[in-house]
Order: sequence, then structure tokens, then C-alpha cells
Amino acid sequence: MKYRKLVVSTGNEHKIEEIRDILKGLPIEVLSKKDVGLGNLDIVEDGNSLEENSIKKAKGLADKLDYMVLADDSGLFVDALNGEPGVYSFRYGGEEGNYKKNNDKLLEELKDVPLEERKAKFITVMALITEDKEILVVKGECKGSIGIEPKGSNGFGYDPLFVPDGYTKTFAELGDNIKNKISHRAKALENLREKILELLED
Ligand code: IMP
Repeated sequence: MKYRKLVVSTGNEHKIEEIRDILKGLPIEVLSKKDVGLGNLDIVEDGNSLEENSIKKAKGLADKLDYMVLADDSGLFVDALNGEPGVYSFRYGGEEGNYKKNNDKLLEELKDVPLEERKAKFITVMALITEDKEILVVKGECKGSIGIEPKGSNGFGYDPLFVPDGYTKTFAELGDNIKNKISHRAKALENLREKILELLED
């Protein structure tokens, strides 16, 4: 059977492994942008939505390749903050990727908000561009709430503050085994698998 190449617009090996894992068994070879000699290609995420950013990232790569391309963008949306930090989750605290500052700012913004009003959700959007340059978008959501103080040491980002619905512990306390079954990214990846199965059938 002929394998089709899928190039993922990320430098994050962990994400590539997660995608490989969920697509295993399909005739798809998952490659990073580095694998195709585009490791230095950086696309500015300046869109106003996760959709815009993921499509922009995927297009930036698809313009240079004839393979299938995938890009994702995620964020944390807090009800009491009208959906903030949302698309700005990566730099909410004022410094890109500074998780401590991001979490401190979130706790500060929520300091007068009682536990029952701290509902939030993580969302992941993935944009897939086919070899024919057709754009397909899938989404995954994980609902939960924001704790009063950071707890746990696993994961990254807002994990020490996020308690998924149905649990009493944060993502950072629950660890990757549970998180990777219920997370926004896991759900988006399941939807992606469905989309790719449909593509392969065509
Ligand atoms: P990205 O688009 O996957 O890079 O996510 C953007 C930002 O959202 C990250 O830098 C984190 O701040 C936050 N984020 C996304 N997914 C998660 C998660 O699973 N746990 C905690 N924070 C996350």
C-alpha cells in the first residue's frame, strides 16, 4: 500500500509522537517540518482565533510542500473572563511561554470569583490541508474549572490550575495517562483520525 506523508507544523516532538500514536495503523507517515528541511520556518500566530492561527500555520507550510499538512492551535477559555486568555493563552502573563506568569495572572484575575463560577474549557483546533489544498478543520474540547491554587507537577501550561469535569484533581496531578485520554488535544486527534479515514476512502 502507498503511504501518504503528513507533515506537522510544529517543532514539538511530543505532539508529533501523540499524532503518530493516534494515526497508527493508517497508511500515513507522520513527519515534522524539520524532517522535510523546513525546521526554521516560523509562522507568526497573530490571528484572532484558534481557527485563523491553525489555518495560517498550515497554509504557510502547505505553500511549500505537496504533502498533506497539519497545524494546531490551543487555548484556555475561562467563562468568568469572557473567554480569556483564549487565543492569547501562550503569552497571557506578558511573556511568551512563561507558564508561571500566565498562571499567576489567571489566579489574580479570578481572585474574587467563587469556585462554582470558575468554569473553563480547553479547546484545540487542527487544520489539515490535503495534497489538493483542500482545508479541513477539526476541533476538540475539554471542560472543567480553575482551581484556587496551583497543584501537581505533571504536564505544562495551565495544567496545575485546570480540574477537568468529573475529577477532583488538576491535570498536573492526574498525569499524562489520564490527561491524554480526555484532553482537548486527544479529542481533536480522534476527530482528525475520522477525517483522515474519510479522506483515505475517497
Ligand atoms: P498550543 O497552541 O498547543 O501551543 O497552546 C497554546 C497555549 O495554550 C500553551 O502555551 C498553554 O499555555 C496553553 N495550553 C494548551 N494546551 C494545554 C494543556 O494541555 N495544558 C495546559 N495548558 C495548555
